[in-house]
Amino acid sequence: MLRSSPSLDSASKRVPHRGALVDRFGRVHRDLRISLTDRCSLRCTYCMPAEGVPWLAKGNILTTDELERVARVAASLGITEVRLTGGEPLLRPDVVDVVRRMARIEGEQGPLEVSMTTNALRLPQLAGELAAAGLARVNISIDTLRPERFAELTRRDRLDDVLDGIDAARTAGFDPIKLNAVPMRGVNDDELVDLLRFAVARGAELRFIEQMPLDAGHVWSRVEMVRGEEILKRLSAAFRLTPIGERGAAPAERFLVDDGPATVGVIASVTAPFCGACDRVRLTADGQLRNCLFAREESDLLALLRGDADDDAIAELMRRCITGKRAGHGIDDEGFLQPDRPMSAIGG
Ligand code: SAM
Ligand code: SF4
Repeated sequence: MLRSSPSLDSASKRVPHRGALVDRFGRVHRDLRISLTDRCSLRCTYCMPAEGVPWLAKGNILTTDELERVARVAASLGITEVRLTGGEPLLRPDVVDVVRRMARIEGEQGPLEVSMTTNALRLPQLAGELAAAGLARVNISIDTLRPERFAELTRRDRLDDVLDGIDAARTAGFDPIKLNAVPMRGVNDDELVDLLRFAVARGAELRFIEQMPLDAGHVWSRVEMVRGEEILKRLSAAFRLTPIGERGAAPAERFLVDDGPATVGVIASVTAPFCGACDRVRLTADGQLRNCLFAREESDLLALLRGDADDDAIAELMRRCITGKRAGHGIDDEGFLQPDRPMSAIGG
């Protein structure tokens, strides 16, 4: 079969249905996380080293046409949501175009829902354009409200830019805005209540994420990690938290704050894994498909995209990648090995 041209196919937008991405455990995959770049404007200690980052080869970074093609094939396999991440996705010069092209792809249940996880530094410049291009939702990372602490934690003195970015997201009409925070012992674990007050005051939903073993320095420690239970205990001292119940494939366990409407989420990926309901698959900026954040193997889509493979071959590789997915991330297994890539190079 001839390799289909992205421009021709994107003109018709609607993609043929090729069946669903179902793994050996019956999990149907709907959510594709695409890393747009491994570059970042911050250097969060739990994610990147201070210096000496082994950058991906520039020539291997997927082009916009290649990204669109992968998303289109994924939509034909039942993917309904694309989350753009990184590294810092807003560092990609063509990010608005990527959003526009993704948001036009029609899947089984209508256009792909396109969302983004960002550090917000470039939102003051880009939020309006991104909204107009079809970006549906943003998740913004903010781990501290104290400028000096922010500078230490991210190794860059840019808290004001993040705060401006959050305001810009609101002005652009993103709703809900989700905020992500990773509590770290002795670093920001005394700020959990302040962070939630901040989020509630801005009508944003805060989600606390347990720190995972994905740091470039491989110094993560389970003993040091602030556990989901501890997060809830600390918050409960200041707020009345009522569980919201059913979470489906969503990673966050959510609670009403002081009877609502504000909510808070806790993503206890380590101590209460939600692997049984996982519907996510990841594409790195250099075209490697990963069936789990903690996968040790990758499927080389880049080689297919740069060769003469047709869309069926790409779909087949995606299917094989999902078939090989393990039941869980295995952080607790004896012999667990942290992935070689840091979070910034996988795409969070
Ligand atoms: N640069 C963007 C940002 O920070 O939002 C997107 C990429 S970042 C890798 C995506 C998310 O992963 C962020 O919310 C970040 O806090 C989270 N993250 C990074 N390293 C982590 C780790 N070791 N454990 C838990 N979450 C982590
Ligand atoms: Fe950059 Fe996001 Fe990693 Fe922080 S968490 S270093 S902002 S990619």
